[in-house]
Amino acid sequence: MLKIRGLKVDNLSNAIIIDQQRPKISYYIESDQKNAKIVDGIIKVGDWSMHAIDNVAVAYDGPKLSPFSVYEVSVEIKDTRGQIAKASTSFTTGRLHQSWDAKWITDGSYKYPGKKKSPKTMTFRKRFGNGKSIKSAMIYATALGIYELNLNGQKVGNDYFAPGFTAYKHHIQYQVYDVTKALKESNELHAIVGGGWAIGPFTYVRRTKVFAKKQAFLCEIRIVYSDKTVEVIGTDTTWDVTLEGKYVETEFYDGEVYDATVNMDKVKFYKASLARITINPQFRATYGAMVKHMDTIQPIGHHISSKGTLIYDFGQNFAGVIAIKAKATKGQKIVFKHAEILMAGELYTEPLRSAKQEIVYIAKEGVQTYSPKMTFMGFRYVSVEGIDSKDLEIEGYVLYSDIETTGYFECSNPSLNQLQKNIVWSAKSNFIDIPTDCPQRDERMGWTGDIALFASTAAFNFDTSRFLDKWLIDVKAEQRRGGGIPVTVPLIRVPRQYEIALPMAVDHWGDACVLVPWAEYLTRGDYHLLSMMYPVMKRYIEACQFWARLFSFGKHRKIWKLGHHYGDWVAPNSNLMQWMSRGKWTGTASLAHTSSIVSQIASILGFEKDSKYYKKLSEETAIAYRKILMQPNCSLKKEFQTGYVLPLHYRMLSDKDRFRTADHLARMIRENDYKIATGFPGTPYVLFALADNGHLDDAYKMLLNDKAPSWLFMLKAGATTVWEKWDALREDGTSNTGEGDGLKCMVSFNHYANGAVGDFFYKRIAGIEPLTGGYQTFEVKPRLGGDITWSKASVLTAYGPIKSHWEIENEVFSISVEVPVGTRCELVLPSGKKESLYNGSYTLSEKLLDGKSL
Ligand code: BGC
Repeated sequence: MLKIRGLKVDNLSNAIIIDQQRPKISYYIESDQKNAKIVDGIIKVGDWSMHAIDNVAVAYDGPKLSPFSVYEVSVEIKDTRGQIAKASTSFTTGRLHQSWDAKWITDGSYKYPGKKKSPKTMTFRKRFGNGKSIKSAMIYATALGIYELNLNGQKVGNDYFAPGFTAYKHHIQYQVYDVTKALKESNELHAIVGGGWAIGPFTYVRRTKVFAKKQAFLCEIRIVYSDKTVEVIGTDTTWDVTLEGKYVETEFYDGEVYDATVNMDKVKFYKASLARITINPQFRATYGAMVKHMDTIQPIGHHISSKGTLIYDFGQNFAGVIAIKAKATKGQKIVFKHAEILMAGELYTEPLRSAKQEIVYIAKEGVQTYSPKMTFMGFRYVSVEGIDSKDLEIEGYVLYSDIETTGYFECSNPSLNQLQKNIVWSAKSNFIDIPTDCPQRDERMGWTGDIALFASTAAFNFDTSRFLDKWLIDVKAEQRRGGGIPVTVPLIRVPRQYEIALPMAVDHWGDACVLVPWAEYLTRGDYHLLSMMYPVMKRYIEACQFWARLFSFGKHRKIWKLGHHYGDWVAPNSNLMQWMSRGKWTGTASLAHTSSIVSQIASILGFEKDSKYYKKLSEETAIAYRKILMQPNCSLKKEFQTGYVLPLHYRMLSDKDRFRTADHLARMIRENDYKIATGFPGTPYVLFALADNGHLDDAYKMLLNDKAPSWLFMLKAGATTVWEKWDALREDGTSNTGEGDGLKCMVSFNHYANGAVGDFFYKRIAGIEPLTGGYQTFEVKPRLGGDITWSKASVLTAYGPIKSHWEIENEVFSISVEVPVGTRCELVLPSGKKESLYNGSYTLSEKLLDGKSL
């Protein structure tokens, strides 16, 4: 049987709204015939059709799409045996740049309360309806601030934090909601608009009014009547507004004050005013992955602390909100505080810095339910004041961007399986509309370095396509004139040192413009993304070179010393000054690495001359690192582990030198008792640097070490997510609040960057690694070690799922692999024996000579 699976338009399989002229159509193929070959494929969109043999991200190239229209999509393929498979879907177009009849509105009488303060929540109201028979009714809405719609008392849609976070100066998403079924003869629409990312306070300096002076709302209700007439009800001064309402205050860091006693029918509304908007963003229907309620968790228990506080334990650190059912009396004030860990049985809130993470709920009479809608917290523990546990039921709503978990990894070592879970949890907790650093303290910002290093692990575990593609559009929009990429995207200017860093290229952080699209491309094969980002990459490398060349001569012009570097960020047992002073090494290695990837990308896109140029740049930079920063015997002039890891993993050394360099790294690691000593840039790659250069055993010893600091020590200390700092908790149970390293209170227990070790699980333990985009060719080459006796993994690629399951029994290694149609798998057995496999399921085995590996 030949089958088409996973037919998607712009990476969506249902409720597809398209708001651009070249949507991408993708699917994968299944066949029970080995080595199936597709000889023809026809993709139809409306009246347009094209032949396509390859099924990866084919872009529509037909006549201009019309707004507010439905298009049928069908795909038909034929294989060499004449078998045929068909699939179909449809999409609806959004506004497609059609101008808005509606006007931005606000509360004209409202004055922002002052620095660092949350704005009052605005509620806009429109009453409408005429009793005519309706064919369809759609709402197109957006806000500066975050909004939630209620139609006739019911929440519209299931998004959190609409319109999502984008570089609002450049573009803003609007949401499209089908409300055909919800409309009555007379209707009342409420839009509650909080400060969100656009109005603030946001960032650790709590900047407010970043994109507008106060909240503003824009909306069109588009009703098509059965008699085919169309009515558009757009926001204007006929809409009402009030600052009163149940949502007294809503804010990301501090939480929510919610007064359930407020009766919206009694609230005084007055006329809304037209808002003066000083930015001019492009509108586009949601093209990212909106935050949704993705999972629900129950507390594993509660206790009364020694201070007498009722504390619930959810057993898992996560980003989200509580949902309660309470029996209470009118006016009863219930306060919920959130924290990631306990210290001496009490909530430990110091790492939250200025974020209160608090919900104040004013109850109405009787049994009632409530869950915050306009904030989120990073937490495992919740303290409750003002209600007895017998009157309260509480659960946790896990919130993150609506992305599918597509990867799976498990092996015979339970600790590694727990670590894999922690990595996945940290990713979910930080995929909150944009890739953030942490979900709890007063940051939650789009730090570029974190996702640059984690993107590859993310792509194994999730379908990050819409989520990261949206963010990359912001990276492109926010690129500085000099080519630098801001260290946080979307850019919110904050004073102090980061303001200075803005125009600069910053190694590993700016590398996001290369590493994130590259990781996406390797998994999904979508070269359109590479095309979009290629000019950004070129300008970024130009900027890196500018800083490397500045005041340098000769070979030193390839050593990137000047400018701002985070260097070996948060490496344990050292401090801020030491991390940053390693910037010369991390910077130079980064330039060699990114230019090598850009050379490959140039070649994929057909820019051969560019490709040669970047290859040469990469090689010369690598030579400079070798000659200037290393000794003839391959040791570093200034030794630190990341300084060895990067040139090894970035393939900057000759074969002869890489083994000698790896010996130095292995020596340092042994001397350090296999504990972690690397910062952000080194940690994702240290195991690869060892394993790929003759020290596989050392790599496994390091991975399985549980003395602090190490990955497994985190688990021993009770972590359910990945920490920002290796010594966030010490072996004696105390917390490192950062006095010693120059950074006060950078203690997040939920940061994914150090979880980039997840890449090693898939690529080296399971052995699955893409060789070309979308896994059209890939390797399955498990590296045996660490007494691991089996591993199972699967990855969803552009061509369909790849599975690998190996085990060792009675000194026999056997492996089953599933290879999707359209790909070639290079399977390498522990003996080094190679097989090229085309689509189908295969099982191979061989006797292990030394009982382990060869
Ligand atoms: C963030 C990091 C980030 C770093 C850069 C921190 O505050 O939490 O993850 O990359 O700053 O300096």
